[in-house]
Amino acid sequence: MKMQTYTYTPRLKNTGERLQLMLNEVDWMVANQCRGTFRVRGIVTDQKTGKRYRIQGASCGLPCHCDATAEEV
Ligand SMILES: [Zn+2]
Repeated sequence: MKMQTYTYTPRLKNTGERLQLMLNEVDWMVANQCRGTFRVRGIVTDQKTGKRYRIQGASCGLPCHCDATAEEV
C-alpha cells in the first residue's frame, strides 16, 4: 500500500527560505490545525529528509494569516 503524502511549504523561521516538506496524513492535519492563528501547531516530520520541524502560524501579509514558519528541532 502506497502511503499518501502531502506537500507543505512553510517558511524556514531563521532565513525565511520557503521549504518544500513531504508530510504524511497525520502530520498534514497537524500542520493545518489552528489555521489563521499564530499558534504553534505542533511538530511534523519531513518524509524526504527525516528532519523534524516545529510549525507555527505566521502572517501571509493578508488578514487571513494563513502562512506558517518551520523551525528545525
Ligand atoms: Zn493568508
